[in-house]
Amino acid sequence: MATEQTPNLAADLERFVKEQASRFGDVISYVPVPLTVGSIVLPPAHTPLPVGDRKTAVVLDEGLAGLEAKLAPYKDEKWMSATSLDIMQQEIHDCQKCALGATRNKLVFGVGNQQSKVLVIGEAPGADEDEQGEPFVGRAGQLLNKMLAAVNFERSDVYIANILKSRPPNNRDPKPEEVAACEPYLWKQILLLQPKLILCLGRVAGTNMLKINESLGKMRGQIYDFHGIQLMVTYHPAALLRNPDWKHGAWEDLKKFRAMFEALG
Ligand code: SF4
Repeated sequence: MATEQTPNLAADLERFVKEQASRFGDVISYVPVPLTVGSIVLPPAHTPLPVGDRKTAVVLDEGLAGLEAKLAPYKDEKWMSATSLDIMQQEIHDCQKCALGATRNKLVFGVGNQQSKVLVIGEAPGADEDEQGEPFVGRAGQLLNKMLAAVNFERSDVYIANILKSRPPNNRDPKPEEVAACEPYLWKQILLLQPKLILCLGRVAGTNMLKINESLGKMRGQIYDFHGIQLMVTYHPAALLRNPDWKHGAWEDLKKFRAMFEALG
């Protein structure tokens, strides 16, 4: 790699780096230094993840066939025959499979690019999401957009969904029976979307997807294999709003996630 740049290129790089830091970071002043060219810090999102740093912690069944097998008990339900996310959304819009159906305002199915290689999974709708029927639209949603933009994803580049599609009262954690009722929908969405990468936001999303009982700290930094799809877990944006000091760690996770995306080619 060249160690000297023309003044214009150097200025362009420097401006770009500063842009990246500021997009994520109305609260972060830290700029990581994964790669430098001369005195210029390259955007960390463009730093490939060394293969040796990759870690596969959990392998769930044999690729997507394992997910299809989990969905076998639901094969006679109408939504299972949906051939697109739009059709599936119509089929489940009035779902009452668990008690949350009676208290929600709008079912929050998911939103985004249906051809995306990237699926972002949160926990459950909050008040704003319940009101609008779209995931991550409140303050946490605005921060998620910034987090994505900091590693060169627009919100419209990815698909966003939740473990639960209806809001738990007072934003409490999902109950096991609610997850059990709702997660087949998410599995079907994954089969329709066929993402290459999944980013789970928060412990609840990570543990429910992976069926492991781990702390967020233990899950962060690992690359899991979810039925053949690489999966990472990072902080939920709502947690980052409460604990701004954690944004440094989230930034590190997102750089790694972007590097995984770049490695897909
Ligand atoms: S949370 Fe899921 S299973 Fe429960 S009512 Fe809503 S859509 Fe149906």
